[in-house]
Amino acid sequence: MNRKIEIRCRRANCNKLFMNYFPTGENNGLYLAGIELKCEKCKRVLRLKNYTEEVLIEHTIDGVFRV
Ligand SMILES: [Zn+2]
Repeated sequence: MNRKIEIRCRRANCNKLFMNYFPTGENNGLYLAGIELKCEKCKRVLRLKNYTEEVLIEHTIDGVFRV
């Protein structure tokens, strides 16, 4: 369950790593909402909405979650 998830910028030519997440196995262990991230590489601003651990895991492909 401790497989690392890399949260990265979704722009194909950017791919900057924002943070790593290690699933806790408890779905209420994570709830991201209202957090704004600015990608320092491509200058994109994005806002995280209603991300739970379950959502993160569902959308992770080969250990990478793109936002
Ligand atoms: Zn970016």
